Amino acid sequence: MRNRVGIIGGGAAGMTAAISAAAEGAEVTLIEGNDRLGKKILATGNGRCNLGNEKLDVGEYYTCSPERLEKCLERFKTEDTISFFHGMGLMLRSRNGYLYPLCEQASAVLDVLRHQVAALGIHVVTECRAEHVERDKKTGKLQVRGSAGVFLFDRVVIACGGRAAPKTGSDGSGFTLAKDLGHKLVPTVPALVQLRCREDYFKSVAGVRADAMLRVRHKGEWAAAERGELLLTDYGISGIPVFQLSRVVNYILLEDAVSRKERGAGRRGAGEVEICIDFLPDYTQEAFREFAEERRLLQGQRTVEEFFAGMLHKKLMLLFVRLAGLKPSESMAWADQNKIRQVYRFCRNWTVHVTGSNSYENAQVCAGGVPLHEVTEDLESKKMEGVYFAGEILDVDGKCGGYNLQWAWCSGHLAGGAAAKMKSKRESKIDGKKEEGLGGTDEGGPA
Ligand SMILES: Cc1cc2nc3c(=O)[nH]c(=O)nc-3n(C[C@H](O)[C@H](O)[C@H](O)COP(=O)(O)OP(=O)(O)OC[C@H]3O[C@@H](n4cnc5c(N)ncnc54)[C@H](O)[C@@H]3O)c2cc1C
Repeated sequence: MRNRVGIIGGGAAGMTAAISAAAEGAEVTLIEGNDRLGKKILATGNGRCNLGNEKLDVGEYYTCSPERLEKCLERFKTEDTISFFHGMGLMLRSRNGYLYPLCEQASAVLDVLRHQVAALGIHVVTECRAEHVERDKKTGKLQVRGSAGVFLFDRVVIACGGRAAPKTGSDGSGFTLAKDLGHKLVPTVPALVQLRCREDYFKSVAGVRADAMLRVRHKGEWAAAERGELLLTDYGISGIPVFQLSRVVNYILLEDAVSRKERGAGRRGAGEVEICIDFLPDYTQEAFREFAEERRLLQGQRTVEEFFAGMLHKKLMLLFVRLAGLKPSESMAWADQNKIRQVYRFCRNWTVHVTGSNSYENAQVCAGGVPLHEVTEDLESKKMEGVYFAGEILDVDGKCGGYNLQWAWCSGHLAGGAAAKMKSKRESKIDGKKEEGLGGTDEGGPA
């Protein structure tokens, strides 16, 4: 008998789960809250969709269960992503290992997925938000209650995404479904998102871009580091290295807030993480000292502003000059040498204080979710037999570089395939009895 599989959420993971379940012979219904499938895919990779990466490693991801994640990643690798898309007719290209559709249109990725969903006869129900999942006592099937009706399935895959970019449909309602089933979620925070800083001078440097090394420090301990193109904004910092660090910073801030609440501490001094920025990461301290020594020869009749020309972005140098307590127009001949040294120090170690991040509206990913230790290797819930999870709803978030979509394809494939093939303990028992010649009845009945 064909399994009736219901998939909740028609994003990257849900569509993959639907395709994999249908390919395994299941009768599949895909339930999507929006009026169309895959809205978020269109926004990925700045409209070009970075759908995977040739370098796939568990180290590119964050989760509370790395061993479990590693096993999943081994079962659906980058080569599997490539053949999955080739099989649907999508041509791909690699840019330094980052995989994109050859035509560089995210819409092409969505098109091939949608066409495959149609070709496999998957029943799509749009504008239906699932509100509750439970076991139907009469039939023993899984009942999905949604805004457009009630459905009965043998298996259900929950692929509702997290909370990131809620305009695309992932409003966190999947977490409610998971909690109602008895799952205890890893707290969620926005990830791959811009960070907001306490300092009030950011407007003067907004728009500046620079290659930099960023190190996160909290209570004197180094927590993480990333190098790449930093972008300064009028409220703080952005760019790829900031995106990569944002989930680490947000979890530190969250833990801080929780512990302050538990201790009944007030807001004073609360909720800050330091980020130390080195704008000259290729210089050793020694080389930089020599460089600064040589520069002293330029001093002559120059003003402070003229003296520091030609190093970093002009706006940044002027900010450092001001922060060091110097006036751009003052003569180098009379300038305080300690303050000059301070300007140099800012180039190597400019410390900003992060108070939080932009919201889920701006985040590319939602970190946290259903813990991997509460699901089996096939991503089946340990709380409710026959229910599976796929995609961002699980406690897995990747770095920039196609890793989040790779997880969506991987987990969708594992959950959808297993849901199609899976027999419940009851069905296995019945089959066992049949084999022993004891007979038995099929579950059947209209869903
Ligand atoms: C701007 C942006 C750019 C990104 N760029 C990249 C990139 O280039 N490469 C990369 O790897 N990753 C990228 N990501 C991340 C990546 O898009 C996501 O990790 C991935 O799409 C998650 O897939 P998902 O199917 O788990 O969730 P989603 O894509 O969020 O899909 C969930 C679906 O479920 C539906 N849904 C939610 N709740 C319900 C409900 N109760 N009932 C019915 N339907 C429901 C939603 O409407 C939605 O369609 C980007 C994200 C954003 C926001």
